[in-house]
Amino acid sequence: MNDAVRRALEALRESYPHDPAIDTAECFRREVAEITARRDVLAGEYWAGMTAGETDAAAAVRAAFLAREQADEATIARYIADRIPPRAVHDARHAALYARAASSSVVPGHLDDPGADAAWLARAEDSGFGTELLGGTEDYCSSEPIEDIALPPDVAWTAADEVAALEYAIDVFGIDPGQWFEVQWPPEAWLWSPGHSYETEWAPCARHVDDDSGVADDCDDCADSVAVIVETPAQWRFTTEVRIWRIAFDEAGHEVDCEVATERGFEVRSLTQDPRHIVVGAPGRGSRW
Ligand SMILES: [Zn+2]
Repeated sequence: MNDAVRRALEALRESYPHDPAIDTAECFRREVAEITARRDVLAGEYWAGMTAGETDAAAAVRAAFLAREQADEATIARYIADRIPPRAVHDARHAALYARAASSSVVPGHLDDPGADAAWLARAEDSGFGTELLGGTEDYCSSEPIEDIALPPDVAWTAADEVAALEYAIDVFGIDPGQWFEVQWPPEAWLWSPGHSYETEWAPCARHVDDDSGVADDCDDCADSVAVIVETPAQWRFTTEVRIWRIAFDEAGHEVDCEVATERGFEVRSLTQDPRHIVVGAPGRGSRW
């Protein structure tokens, strides 16, 4: 006899941590018998509901097949909900990623890798695009909002970052048995705030305090009096698309993936950066070049 329920239980037993009730052959046989009996009762109820007042025998047979299919699905879903630990499927699907994450760390909260902007500048040069370092927010005077033309920093994301994003999504949405989460990786960067920097006033050095001759204009020590102060760092926010999946079993009892929900624009991280290191210029965010 075809048994979607038995095959589904076999697949669950092979792939995921599970209830010890299906560990040994004897227990497994008993469990399958019990669950199958429950499924048959449910199929009977469904069928009775579908065929109330039905006098066409062929329609009643069709209803019986449908009732059985729906009962299989409901019974297996119920089994997963009751007997598979909530994170079991998620952990099994991402075992390799979580293993890599264990030996890496999340990127620091402040971007100070000079390579993050050097990469853009090199690419801009290769492509012939006019791109430059912002240098300082006080000098920015283009008509375009800086948020629109700032180029996202090249962040050296690690497996630990991706796992942190997954765990955060699980915290926010909650995970049910049989489900697993996916995040689109790497996340997308948005310049949330360009931050603020300014130059301090020029002041003469000790040697030129009382000098009106103009020599001070060429003096390095006098020039050194002007410092750039970063009052507020720039802030980048990173968003991604979260997908929640669940396992299910088809009529033949083979495992299939069902999408449960998708959440776009889910913020997973924010990083600060020295505003002077922001790279601005054509062709802007989101372009591929
Ligand atoms: Zn001087």
